[in-house]
Amino acid sequence: MADSIVIFDKPKQADLDRCVHCGLCLNACPTYRELGVEMDSPRGRIYQMVQVAGGAPISESYIEHIELCLACRACETACPSGVRYGHLVEAARAEIEIRAPRPLPVRWLRRFVFGFLLQSPAALRTAGALMYLYEASGLQKLARSSGLLKFFGKLGRLEALAPPAEPPFFFGEIGKTFPAEGWPAVSPTCRSRA
Ligand code: SF4
Ligand code: SF4
Repeated sequence: MADSIVIFDKPKQADLDRCVHCGLCLNACPTYRELGVEMDSPRGRIYQMVQVAGGAPISESYIEHIELCLACRACETACPSGVRYGHLVEAARAEIEIRAPRPLPVRWLRRFVFGFLLQSPAALRTAGALMYLYEASGLQKLARSSGLLKFFGKLGRLEALAPPAEPPFFFGEIGKTFPAEGWPAVSPTCRSRA
């Protein structure tokens, strides 16, 4: 891991200044449409970036609103002022990483997921099997109905979004090749054009 390579970035003032706060991007933004909160709209996030650029602290609330952005850039195409929102949100996130280091457990979890789990098919298979056991054994139902998950913070909320784990796990198919079966279908129209 290249922890020593640190590139400090932050939203550029020229990009922030392009926003005229017209609000034409609001309807294009999925997080604003879902949550109905100004601070989770492109305009609201830009407003918060301007505050931070002006010396406001990087608060938990700021981090949450910036993290909730999907970086889909649907707001860019709706913006008549040409705000480069993609650049802004990427720079805001880079600035958060440098100026507001994550708590140790979060850093460990990230290292585990990105540095090990996602790089190892065997570890992924094991995680899939454990997830299946967690569901099939009834533990998941128990954890959900007992309210235990609320003590796990964000991880507990993520658990509610976990898709059903069904055997056989698709990881077993990675790298396999499958011979073609049957005959290719060619419609009469295609044949006549050929
Ligand atoms: S980002 Fe663009 S569309 Fe959205 S408020 Fe600013 S100027 Fe208006
Ligand atoms: S990039 Fe973020 S702010 Fe823009 S539309 Fe997508 S979710 Fe909304």
